[in-house]
Amino acid sequence: MSDENKSIHEFDFNLICEYFSLLERQGPGSPEQTLNALSFVGPLSEDAHIADIGCGTGGQTMVLARNVPAKITGIDLFLRFIELFNANALNLGLGERVKGIVGDMNILPFQEEELDLIWSEGAIYNIGFERGITQWRKFLKPGGYLAVTEASWFTDNRPDEIHDFWMNAYPEIDTVPRKVAQIQQAGYIPIATFILPETCWTDHFYVPQMKAREIFLQKYRGNPMAEGLAANEKHEAELYAKYKDYYGYVFYIGKKI
Ligand code: SAH
Repeated sequence: MSDENKSIHEFDFNLICEYFSLLERQGPGSPEQTLNALSFVGPLSEDAHIADIGCGTGGQTMVLARNVPAKITGIDLFLRFIELFNANALNLGLGERVKGIVGDMNILPFQEEELDLIWSEGAIYNIGFERGITQWRKFLKPGGYLAVTEASWFTDNRPDEIHDFWMNAYPEIDTVPRKVAQIQQAGYIPIATFILPETCWTDHFYVPQMKAREIFLQKYRGNPMAEGLAANEKHEAELYAKYKDYYGYVFYIGKKI
């Protein structure tokens, strides 16, 4: 790769980070649904250790931290997100037991059977659902829990436009029963699944992005890459509004056998 290409590539990556840093959450979800998922997990003591994988700036992590006394480690690939994560934890007085570290979900820095709970909202697609639930299992204690959200189809068939969009974006998207079967095959008891309500996409994700896009485009007016990124996110929101009956995010909660 030439230096010129490399710098373009880095700029793109920084732009993506900057755009999503303007948001409290970097994926669909809500405090209510984080707590809903937590209600299926067994009690967690002060000695318990939770990993939040692909934590972003920690919107959901802080909700967890305010509701369980456990130690929480957030992991994300992007330094900027981890800096914001740690600032959020400190501001909330949670800095003692909630720490963000830069890391890769493909090579997690935990001991085998170290964790009581693995949490991951809107991020496991980066390793792939089946690979993620299989590879991460060894880090859980027997009886430990896994709680992840994953893009899923709600019906067996769907219009071509949205089918093609997802085949390009994330071909591992699949129906809920097939995802549940994968959880069972990977060595977990499927404890619960529920579809995230529409507001997790609208009020908590796409609506805040409208304001973020304004700020972002004011700063980067005339920059084709920034404008392209903003247009892309807007297109995604429009697709969601049109095809929300066919897909969404589903919370999957499993217990390691
Ligand atoms: N859980 C947060 C963020 C979801 S966005 C929320 O729900 O708001 C997905 C996150 O995964 C991003 O923060 C991205 O930086 C992170 N990510 C992408 N690839 C990763 C990898 N290989 N290892 C760790 N984190 C990764």
